[in-house]
Amino acid sequence: HSTGGGEKGLPRRGKASSGRTLNTAQIPLVASHPEVYEPCDDSFALVDALLSDKAQLLALQPRLCMEVGCGSGYVITSLAIMLRQLASGTQYLATDINKHAAETTQATLEAHGVHADVMVTDIVSGLEKRLAGMVDVVVINPPYVPTPEEEIGCKGIASSWAGGLNGRQVIDRILPAVREILSERGWLYMVALEDNDPLDICHLMSEMGYASRVVLKRCTEEESLFVLKFWRD
Ligand code: SAM
Repeated sequence: HSTGGGEKGLPRRGKASSGRTLNTAQIPLVASHPEVYEPCDDSFALVDALLSDKAQLLALQPRLCMEVGCGSGYVITSLAIMLRQLASGTQYLATDINKHAAETTQATLEAHGVHADVMVTDIVSGLEKRLAGMVDVVVINPPYVPTPEEEIGCKGIASSWAGGLNGRQVIDRILPAVREILSERGWLYMVALEDNDPLDICHLMSEMGYASRVVLKRCTEEESLFVLKFWRD
């Protein structure tokens, strides 16, 4: 069983777009839009991984946390609530390529009384200089499903999951971009599928100077999900 969203105050789970019921007895506090990815098993796995690292995250006292591909805002809102007790005034930033996702994230954040700057952009485009070496925690549930290449970057909900060959096309653009913005003590948490070849992802990151570990592995009916964590070696 996953626990993401089960902790007091975190955004509640709604109904997965696949039609599977995920604890719908709870009040759905995550804003939604037909063109925006609804929190699903992968979103819950990422929040569960962050919860399992909560003590370390609090000890890190991150100054700036960022989510790339924020969708409904479930993950960045959960992170902000999780770290609420930090007196240091942690700042939050989120991006998504889909403008409806940015609006939905803003609504979810507001519903929980937390704040993040939300921007519509491709990964971190336009922010590289401002954020270079600044971000202490990056969280990503990327589009990772193997699909025909032409589905990538198309408008609408398909861009939420379309990952091209081996589901790696967007992931392989994200990794070098994240490396530029992570601080020396920065951590990256990223969801990946077995099909994405997580070992190869860890190898690529190791060549860029990052150590890694699997924070969480979860097999659902449809997929084997991993949450990988990276930090500078
Ligand atoms: N983080 C949310 C969650 O876990 O529920 C949404 C995850 S969904 C699998 C992936 C998100 O990445 C979508 O909201 C999609 O619009 C966004 N996305 C896809 N390609 C992107 C890109 N190139 N730059 C920024 N966001 C992107």
